[in-house]
This record gives sequence, structure tokens and C-alpha cells, in this order.
Amino acid sequence: MKNGIYLVATPIGNISDITLRALDVLKNADIIACEDTRVTKKLFSLLCLSTSGKNFVTMHDHNEEDISQSLIDSAKNGHIIAYVSDAGSPLISDPGYKLSKKCRKQNVYITTIPGACAAICALQLSGLPSNCFTFAGFIPNKDKARNDFFNKYKNYDSTLIFYETANRLTKTLEVAKDIFADREISVAREITKLYEECKTGSAKELLTYYIENQPKGEIVLMVAPKTETNQIDYESELMEEMKKSSLKTAVKTIVEKYDLNKNEVYQKALGLKK
Ligand code: SAM
Repeated sequence: MKNGIYLVATPIGNISDITLRALDVLKNADIIACEDTRVTKKLFSLLCLSTSGKNFVTMHDHNEEDISQSLIDSAKNGHIIAYVSDAGSPLISDPGYKLSKKCRKQNVYITTIPGACAAICALQLSGLPSNCFTFAGFIPNKDKARNDFFNKYKNYDSTLIFYETANRLTKTLEVAKDIFADREISVAREITKLYEECKTGSAKELLTYYIENQPKGEIVLMVAPKTETNQIDYESELMEEMKKSSLKTAVKTIVEKYDLNKNEVYQKALGLKK
């Protein structure tokens, strides 16, 4: 195996998702760089890999600048270095970017050993358009920052993918209800684990569901692009309501059900009436 840096993806929940190439690199590496040695040594144990003779080095957001250079120096001196994050694909809301950039600049061999990535797995499950998507990482926790963050992305014409934590999900859906009112939203939870779940609906529907069913575990939140075809399709329902009641009542019912803009639904109802 060639000396250099190997960016190794690890499972995001199901240990059987480790790849044959990942096993090979982890077996052969002299140095295992990881976010947390306890997590990675546990992974070695689950995979029945020996840790003896291997040097485990911690590389996280706060020391990446320095550690990445020493890893590169080791690679130049003929060593095989595997970098793994706690779970999933390195660099994706995880350390590794500085390491990769330095390798390019210093002409050091670097390769990827691909595998699970929560963002991609979630998109596959969501039923939202997958032809064009924007991965925006973790949603900020503070109210203003979260609002600004969503407003920045709201006009993107692509499916939006965010990482979120279970304890913040309902608060985030509250905000999403205002900013992405008419869009399909999807929440993928505990992907590849025993209680894997993916729910798609309006922010309002998902908020109701997650208030009743307190979410646990790891979460990816996705928002459908702002295009006609992916907005909530309420037209046929509005027609049905208009057959049963007055135009005003029908509009009110639909606006309340999907948390939509009243004027937009009213204009749509007028058009349908004609
Ligand atoms: N680099 C990893 C990847 O892309 O697979 C992600 C690392 S990031 C620090 C961790 C976040 O990824 C979690 O907070 C969650 O949003 C998401 N995540 C990781 N594993 C997941 C899973 N099994 N199901 C749903 N989301 C997951």
C-alpha cells in the first residue's frame, strides 16, 4: 500500500456498512488519526481489528492546523496514515479539510475510501428532488443566527440538507414553519440504525408529529427546493373545499391546514372559481 493520507469513511450506525477497502486501510495503516481515540478504538474492536503497533493520534477542529502538518510529514517519511472521523465521511461537518488542502499544496499522496455519509443517505430516503442539492451543515443554535441562516438559503433552487440535533428539532421546525411554510420538509432520523425513520410533510405537520413523539438520536433535516412542482399541492383539496363551503371558508381551511400565505391561496381560489 502506498504511503500517504487515506480519508476513510466509517459506518453511521450499522457496523456492517464498513467497506472492504476501509478494512484494508485500517489494517495496514501505521498511524490512525481520529477525532476521539476512544470512539475509534471501539470501532477497531467491533471490527475485530488489532490496534497493536499502531499510533493513534487525535485530530479535531482545534488542533487540525498543527496535527495535519505532522501527519503530512509522516506521510513524506513513508508512513500510511488513515484519517477517520467519529462516524461517516471525513470532512463533511467533520475535520479533514485542512489536511486535504495541505496535501494538495505539498504534493503528498491523498485518497478517499468512500462509504456512508448521513447527508447523502438522508437525501436518498427523503423523496425530495435529488438532482440538485445544497448541503449546509449544522443549523446554528441561536435564534437570530438560525433565522439568518434559513433566510440565506430560502431562495436556493435546490433541495437543502442540514444536520440537526434531536433536542433542537422542534424549535427549528417552528422557525421553518414561517420561512419554508409552503415547502415539503423531510426529517431523517437514526439512519441505518434499529429505529431508522424518515418523515416528509409540511413543517407544520412535522412539528405536530415531533411534539407528540419527542425525537431521539441523530437527525438530518431537508427542505424541498422553491419551485412550483415541489410546493405543497393543495389545489385539488382547495377545489373540494370550495364545493363543500364558501370560497372564504375553503381558503381559511387550506391556509390553516398548511400554514400558507392567505393572499396566495385566495388568488388561487379565485382562479379556480373562474
Ligand atoms: N461526517 C458525518 C457524515 O457526513 O456522515 C457527519 C458528522 S456530523 C459531526 C454528525 C451529524 O450527522 C449528526 O448530528 C446528524 O445530524 C448527522 N448524522 C450522523 N449519523 C446519522 C444517522 N445515523 N442518522 C441521521 N443523521 C445522522
